[in-house]
Amino acid sequence: MKNSDYTDNNVEAGLVPAFYIHIPFCRKKCGYCDFVSADYADKTTDYTDRYLQALSKEISFHFPLPTSYFPLTIYIGGGTPSVLSEKQIVFLFKTILAHLTKCASEKIEITFEINPESITEQKLKILKDYGVNRLSIGLQSFNDMILKFLGRVHTVKDFLSCYESARKIGFKNINIDLIFGIPGQTVKTWQRTLKCALQLKPEHISTYSLTIEKGTRFFETGLRKDDDADADMYEFAIHYLKKNGYHHYEISNFSRASKPGFECKHNINYWKNGEYLGFGLGAVSYIKGKRIKNTENLTDYLNGKFRSDCEELKSDEKMSEDLMLGLRLIDGMKISDSIKEKFFVAISKLKHSGLLKEQNNFLKLTDKGIMFANCVFREFL
Ligand code: SF4
Repeated sequence: MKNSDYTDNNVEAGLVPAFYIHIPFCRKKCGYCDFVSADYADKTTDYTDRYLQALSKEISFHFPLPTSYFPLTIYIGGGTPSVLSEKQIVFLFKTILAHLTKCASEKIEITFEINPESITEQKLKILKDYGVNRLSIGLQSFNDMILKFLGRVHTVKDFLSCYESARKIGFKNINIDLIFGIPGQTVKTWQRTLKCALQLKPEHISTYSLTIEKGTRFFETGLRKDDDADADMYEFAIHYLKKNGYHHYEISNFSRASKPGFECKHNINYWKNGEYLGFGLGAVSYIKGKRIKNTENLTDYLNGKFRSDCEELKSDEKMSEDLMLGLRLIDGMKISDSIKEKFFVAISKLKHSGLLKEQNNFLKLTDKGIMFANCVFREFL
């Protein structure tokens, strides 16, 4: 696929509500990770500088001149964006995001993912100065032994110091990422992680069930999960977080109920199957019914070969995606007559099994359906 296949959308790009920027470097690859990320250790500063130059070139395909486009959200994720040096973070905002400089408004949600081992007070200050107003911190567990098992390179102490600095510098919207269903983890150790997280009163908590994907170190070593323990931990998290003042708004996500408005706007756009533009290695865009994928080959990307695939979704595929994404939201989704007609049999069967319910044209998972969401989604494939 040629880069030019996508540049026709330059004008429309200004109307896309969400931008994602991928920084594919990490200090060390975690045992369970199947994201597009590479160990930072064997990459020189020059290597990451070249990546940022390529990223800048890719973005300028869409925004040839500095403009005043107003996306509603910008999400800088990875990998680990906080492995970038202070100079590189400044470059990212000053040069690359210069095309979107008018974005530095409180109304726009700008999220930056950080990991405790690679963030400093100075980097946090730079992020604040450039308008970042939401931090997502990869903690995963409040247990150092579990962190080590996962292959994380930070400790609980590193996380606490990072969290404290972020609050001191004035970040008022912080997400903490946690993982459950780890082999050897018990409901009791999981409860302790949740309890410690709650004591910090983050605005948002994401809880993910560990997945062991092909190609990861965990998979290669034959590690397998206990599905019953996993379900127990998930059920416990929902109950415990709700009881302690968190609003369960998406299968894996919770926001502070006493401070409305802290749901992640960027991800809500994904779950509503809204359009978005993704920049960087392996990033995906969805615009005008087309799913456009960037290459996952770093050498190709550095050489300016950004795109690898473009697929136009058929109307059936779009409806199936609408359902699988929209039903992740606990409030459910409004269903059109065409979805009702196309998936009549599957929807009736799932309602009959007590996994889905419909009210005023809104379809949503029941409490039981939330626990078996993957079985529900399989019916719409
Ligand atoms: S920090 Fe995140 S992206 Fe990096 S290796 Fe670990 S799980 Fe993957």
